[in-house]
Amino acid sequence: MSAEADVLIVGAGPTGLTLACDLLRRGVTCRIIDRSAGPQEGSRGFGVKPRTLAVFDALDIAGTVLDAARADGHLRVYLGTAPIHTGRREPTTPTVDTPYPDSVSLPQWRTEAILRARLAELGEKVRFGASLAGLDQDADGVTATIVADGEERTLRTAYLVGCDGGGSTVRKLLGIGFPGRTEEDTRALLADVEVRGLEPRDAVHLWLGERRMMAVRPWPGAVTSQVVVSIAPGQAVEPSVEELTRLVAEHSGRDDIRLGTPAWLSVWRYNLRLADRYRAGRAFLAGDAAHGHSPFGAYGMNTGVQDAYNLGWKLALAVQGRAAPGLLDTYEAERRPAGKAALDASDRGLSSAVTPPRVLRPVLRLVIGALLSRMRSDGRDDHPTYHDGPLSVQAIRRGRVRAGDPAPDGVLTTPRGDRIHLYDLYRAPGFTALSFEERRVRVETAGGATPDTYDDPDGAARGAFGVRPGTTVLIRPDGYIGLVARTSGPERAAYLNRVLAR
Ligand SMILES: Cc1cc2nc3c(=O)[nH]c(=O)nc-3n(C[C@H](O)[C@H](O)[C@H](O)COP(=O)(O)OP(=O)(O)OC[C@H]3O[C@@H](n4cnc5c(N)ncnc54)[C@H](O)[C@@H]3O)c2cc1C
Repeated sequence: MSAEADVLIVGAGPTGLTLACDLLRRGVTCRIIDRSAGPQEGSRGFGVKPRTLAVFDALDIAGTVLDAARADGHLRVYLGTAPIHTGRREPTTPTVDTPYPDSVSLPQWRTEAILRARLAELGEKVRFGASLAGLDQDADGVTATIVADGEERTLRTAYLVGCDGGGSTVRKLLGIGFPGRTEEDTRALLADVEVRGLEPRDAVHLWLGERRMMAVRPWPGAVTSQVVVSIAPGQAVEPSVEELTRLVAEHSGRDDIRLGTPAWLSVWRYNLRLADRYRAGRAFLAGDAAHGHSPFGAYGMNTGVQDAYNLGWKLALAVQGRAAPGLLDTYEAERRPAGKAALDASDRGLSSAVTPPRVLRPVLRLVIGALLSRMRSDGRDDHPTYHDGPLSVQAIRRGRVRAGDPAPDGVLTTPRGDRIHLYDLYRAPGFTALSFEERRVRVETAGGATPDTYDDPDGAARGAFGVRPGTTVLIRPDGYIGLVARTSGPERAAYLNRVLAR
């Protein structure tokens, strides 16, 4: 049976959509199916982090996301029912080497809509109402059983990726364990709803208390807010507007906050789980299918997008027969530790918000400003690094960035005086080699024609990397630094031999 597409993606949330767009732009064919009848509703993953914006830049949608989103600069915090902090923080000014310095807020359904629009531009669409029911694999490919419109059919692909969320069918069919814990007593009622009577209207309102919390986050450009309110242990709660109204009054201690009719209501339970493996043969797990988080710290969607972008180029090389043996294994080697780190951080975030440390509570009013700014910078510094990963080789003393870090942006000048962004160079489907000289940079893209030499008149691009003249930096197709070595050394050829099929 010949393959009908190179890759089958199961699940069209942010992870599956990012992967589909990335594969298509790399010239790989894919199918993307989702068992729901249409797009998911609900604002859920609200925070879009800088590294995710860099991925969206590569997919050509960062501008659209930024135009639709809002920077969360205004925050009011309450301890119990009393306000203890109101602060407004100006957005960080983007610089040449850091074009996306801050996280922004955008309801997840909107982010997904932008990704689907990009998918359509790339010539694909989500097949909604199509559910994966079975899979078999052999040495050459995967045969998936898909149920759509009550009928069962098979689809043959070279690879399959389960981006099918926490209850992942793919994970279960592969028999991959998902150990961790579910806390039935740590629950929240979630709603997208108009909230009246809460000032300032454009602020995020956050109530902290003894084993309870509530957050109200206004959507950009709409009267709707996302409300997340914790439910007391053992309390029976139905997702209804009456219950939401009661909980909001209870947490805020106020009866003057008015709610509209929720556009979306759901009960969330705390799951903290990590898949034992991210790969079984030709099948992979990504996103919530591989890791379940607390919503604290905005790790879920962002980690899924990073999984997808880490996997995309590796799968593309494998499909094209250009991956060295073992390249696909580096997906789990790099992303499982990143998933574990995100899990731990979101767990810490949840416990300190739901139960602020007892010793801190009397002085919380005094330290809240510092605490929040620390949380903000931790949140901003979201990029997972692969310093100890199998694809990171730092052959010389490290500079400002090192192998395993995301490569910074920068601006070079063509001999004709045109400016060119490094991020635009990294968009090439292959590796990009930057060989730094005193005031010039030689740029080669794998498979590209002759190298181009650009001017780096004041040495700013070299400064962003913090390397000496005579250094070559090899950038992976996902924008991470793979190798830092002397330009004259043998390491570059050895590195590419290790990663690419000969
Ligand atoms: C209140 C709340 C706030 C959050 N805030 C943030 C935040 O600020 N930032 C952040 O990064 N994350 C946040 N998250 C987490 C985020 O929503 C998830 O991590 C994210 O949706 C995961 O994306 P995904 O694509 O991996 O999976 P999902 O979005 O769960 O998508 C999986 C898809 O797979 C489909 N599917 C399932 N089974 C099958 C099957 N057998 N066949 C075909 N299709 C199937 C489903 O229909 C679904 O559309 C939040 C979550 C909640 C609940």
